[in-house]
Amino acid sequence: MTPRKLLPGQLVIASHNAGKVKEIRALLAPYGIEPVSAGELGLPEPNETGTTFAENALLKAHASAQGSGLPALADDSGLCVAALGNAPGVYTADWAEKQVFEGGPGRDWYMAMGKVEGKLAELGPDTDRSAYFICTLALAWPDGHEEVFEGCVQGSLTWPPRGKLGFGYDPVFVPAGRMQTFAELDPQEKHAISHRADAFEKLVEAVF
Ligand code: IMP
Repeated sequence: MTPRKLLPGQLVIASHNAGKVKEIRALLAPYGIEPVSAGELGLPEPNETGTTFAENALLKAHASAQGSGLPALADDSGLCVAALGNAPGVYTADWAEKQVFEGGPGRDWYMAMGKVEGKLAELGPDTDRSAYFICTLALAWPDGHEEVFEGCVQGSLTWPPRGKLGFGYDPVFVPAGRMQTFAELDPQEKHAISHRADAFEKLVEAVF
């Protein structure tokens, strides 16, 4: 079936993750789209109960489309480490979950990167350090129509973490063919090769 076109106008970015929202805004900038985030609209964050990236992306996109009456774009992404059976995968954000003193959970990415490194270290010094990021983008319209696009970037994990740019696991991920981590690369350079850019390219081709 031909994908439904996305017309210029308002689009909800169905995310409360500031790092993702920033990257998605930059990727949408050339297309006459006015992004507003689910956080800015005060829309609730649904529980990510899916077992695949696509299920979780669709959950978030539909919740924001229904809550706002506007088309909504959600990103579900994660890091898959070959030697760990592709973990943390859909549970990438959960590996960073931490209780904070003020009450409520918080996310500690350095703790999460340390957890991945600890598990690789347990497997020994010659362990395969290859990994990839997946990004699944789901677009949902208020009438229930949906489109899904998936992107990937291959690379390997380094330790200790390096760089201050980007977000999440960027300081330990070295994309294939580069020396720098995602957190050391200029955002423009990350956007040219990332899993999110790959998924976006497919989305742009289909719906713009
Ligand atoms: P979720 O999609 O909200 O479940 O979260 C996925 C998690 O994967 C993010 O919170 C990040 O920690 C990680 N992740 C996804 N994309 C990237 C990226 O481009 N760089 C670094 N970490 C990422």
